[in-house]
Amino acid sequence: MATRSETVVFHAWVAGEWRQSSAGDHFDSVNPADTSDVVARFPNLTTDDAAQAIEAAARAFPKWAATAPGKRAEILWKAASLLDERRAQYAVELTREEGKVLSAAQAEVKRAADTLRFYAQEGLSLAGETFTTDDAGSLVFTRREPLGVVTAITPWNFPISIPARKIAPALVTGNTVVFKPASDTPLIALRLVECLIEAGLPAGVINLVTGSASRVGDVIVSHPEVRAVTFTGSTGVGETIHRKVSLTTRVQMELGGKNPILVMDDADLKKAVELTIKGGFELTGQACTGTSRAIVMRSAYDAYVEALVDATARLRIGSGLEPGVEIGPLANQSQLRTVLEYVALGQEEGARLVYGGEQLTGPGYDRGYFVRPAVFADVKPTMRIAQEEIFGPVIAVIPVDSFEEALNLANGVEYGLSASIVTRDIERAHRFVKGIQAGTVKVNRTTTGNLIQAPFGGLKRSSAATFRESGRVGLEFFTQLKTVYYGF
Ligand code: NAP
Ligand code: MG
Repeated sequence: MATRSETVVFHAWVAGEWRQSSAGDHFDSVNPADTSDVVARFPNLTTDDAAQAIEAAARAFPKWAATAPGKRAEILWKAASLLDERRAQYAVELTREEGKVLSAAQAEVKRAADTLRFYAQEGLSLAGETFTTDDAGSLVFTRREPLGVVTAITPWNFPISIPARKIAPALVTGNTVVFKPASDTPLIALRLVECLIEAGLPAGVINLVTGSASRVGDVIVSHPEVRAVTFTGSTGVGETIHRKVSLTTRVQMELGGKNPILVMDDADLKKAVELTIKGGFELTGQACTGTSRAIVMRSAYDAYVEALVDATARLRIGSGLEPGVEIGPLANQSQLRTVLEYVALGQEEGARLVYGGEQLTGPGYDRGYFVRPAVFADVKPTMRIAQEEIFGPVIAVIPVDSFEEALNLANGVEYGLSASIVTRDIERAHRFVKGIQAGTVKVNRTTTGNLIQAPFGGLKRSSAATFRESGRVGLEFFTQLKTVYYGF
């Protein structure tokens, strides 16, 4: 497998042209499993370059909005086929760039293609309403129309499926797009854009703006031509962007989480542990819906902690390209620093570190950002490791004495993205469904994972209080209603 070669210099895609930064500088995408492996080099665009991307998208809008919806959908279908054809190559690139294990990268590239197909189909069934009226000689109805230029800003943790979930519904409804990927994962972002271009997307309809947020971030959210910003990332950056957008710019934001799994006294313990490991440690804990708190009934507590530690100790950690590896590296140095800081903090706060938490060294680890997944027991709900998003493989286990206490603790954080309960008691499960403050609720399933065809989003500080993503409702953000009165 050609996993290492000379660093290739890639381009940004602006106004239908491949281009470099007008300042002439670059940044590197590096492999977090082995930082001597530079995966790709990308232009660090300037504020002015990014403004040109927005202006190009604005110029391309009228024609794209007037393009037949069936033609727009056809381009998404073709791009999906190209993604399928190239899945093997793209998955390796994704793993090298971001670190997740190869099987997860393959699944993500497939999911991006499936997402394009889903919106190619759903975009054609976009509908308005008709209304009754006492005026027999009239017809009153709503039309859904595109907004204009949409900016999509995305994180590195799902670097192709999250962009697909934003870009596909934007394009199929007739908007033009300025796409700014995370600077840790520009290559897989470029691959998605290449497929769309090769599938026939006209110049200016999509623009790939690579570069540091400090240069391009402000202009792509506050330029007067930008009608909507769809953002996924940290709550801190989301709030900053939210303050900068104008009254006439729509925002959609998917932000942080502190997702709990509740383990009841009647739970199948083996299953509870499996779900915790899968939700908390897969993707090296770097999923917005990742499990970071286990709230466990005291009667099950000791057995659960012991089984969780045993199962964690069996996980194989290493480069995601190596067969059999289950946990890859953290995605970048700042992630590593954050995780190690929280592990130290948890101990200072008096929680009991029962497993892991240290940086891994030695052959296969020395050049990467590897940590051993950490389990903290006897965590108090007020501790920072029980309140703040860590975004790494650290699970805080908190004992409780009743379902009510568990539910209160589960709700006692500023986030509300995803939550799960493990129980065989359907009545209690349903009390959880009704009482939990989370946008996604699972019973006997992991906190992670969501269907392409179902809505996704959080409550409280996990999302802006606006539009849901994903599924059919994901189209609503990208269209506005016009109410029409015909008289005959
Ligand atoms: P991040 O630091 O907030 O960055 C997200 C994106 O925003 C990147 O493309 C980043 O560009 C850009 N950005 C940063 N500052 C900006 C600014 N001032 N203006 C405009 N753009 C700016 O998040 P991350 O570290 O990539 O991702 C991890 C976070 O994402 C976690 O908090 C996680 O919970 C959240 N997340 C949420 C969901 C969800 O659906 N709720 C899904 C996945 C991840 P650069 O890379 O160039 O800095
Ligand atoms: Mg990287």
